[in-house]
Amino acid sequence: MIERYAVIGHPVAHSKSPLIHAEFARATGQDIEYRRIEAPLDGFRQAADAFRAAGGKGLNVTLPFKQEAFRYCGEASARARDAEAVNTLAFGQPVFGDNTDGVGLVRDLSRNLHFDLKSARTLVLGAGGAAQGVIGALREAGVAQLVIANRTVEKARTLAARFPGTRGCGYAELGDEAFGLIVNATSASLVDAAPPLPASAFGRAALAYDMVYGRDTPFLAAARAAGARSSDGFGMLVEQAAESFFVWRGVRPDTVPVLRKLRGG
Ligand code: NAP
Repeated sequence: MIERYAVIGHPVAHSKSPLIHAEFARATGQDIEYRRIEAPLDGFRQAADAFRAAGGKGLNVTLPFKQEAFRYCGEASARARDAEAVNTLAFGQPVFGDNTDGVGLVRDLSRNLHFDLKSARTLVLGAGGAAQGVIGALREAGVAQLVIANRTVEKARTLAARFPGTRGCGYAELGDEAFGLIVNATSASLVDAAPPLPASAFGRAALAYDMVYGRDTPFLAAARAAGARSSDGFGMLVEQAAESFFVWRGVRPDTVPVLRKLRGG
């Protein structure tokens, strides 16, 4: 019997998750259906309840509902509690909430981009839901140092305070500090803007990673101009989806062919 899943967000029409999960299902022989649900901004709980009542088995949760999904679930994984946000709901008794964004980023960096996180002085730009979701996993991956910079400085400090050993600051406070890994977890790229980062932030052989995908961004262009390597966030999207698929189905799909196919390679 086909089991039903969906991604819920607002907006959600652009989401590539149905394509990714269709590829995973085909490759692993799992009989699932996966669609998009656009919930009204004040209608997350109602839409999730309705999908569940109709027999839905699980949801991926995207902007702007990840924090609400954290409050919705009856049991949250340690990584969801770290993030205080949920991107994966599994409809059992109780409803289980997980956050696969952090592991998705770390797997893309380490396996697909062959980046050695252990020796990396790391800077995360932004302190919203996306940044919240990845700080725990980056720390666990053993980055050498972790700094969070945000336009609204207080949010960076508050987020950093939850993770011992990390530092929160404003962009101006970065001075001429150089980093080996810079992750843009802001939404600035969506409006073709770049966070105000000095060129000196990109250290020798640095990797600049933009969580936004499917476009070249001013942040990535600035990184290349400073001599850094650059990557968009498409690999993270596919890796976080693979981890969600594993949470639901107990099967871990091979992401490499899916990444290649969906990138058009
Ligand atoms: P969010 O909660 O709305 O937070 C947005 C963040 O961006 C805030 O820190 C905000 O700073 C900052 N920001 C916005 N415009 C800026 C600008 N012009 N200059 C500097 N900072 C700016 O959004 P989110 O959930 O964190 O998502 C951020 C991005 O990550 C989105 O584009 C999303 O699509 C992407 N994402 C990708 C994946 C993936 O799998 N690849 C997964 C998750 C998220 P203030 O606090 O000062 O407002």
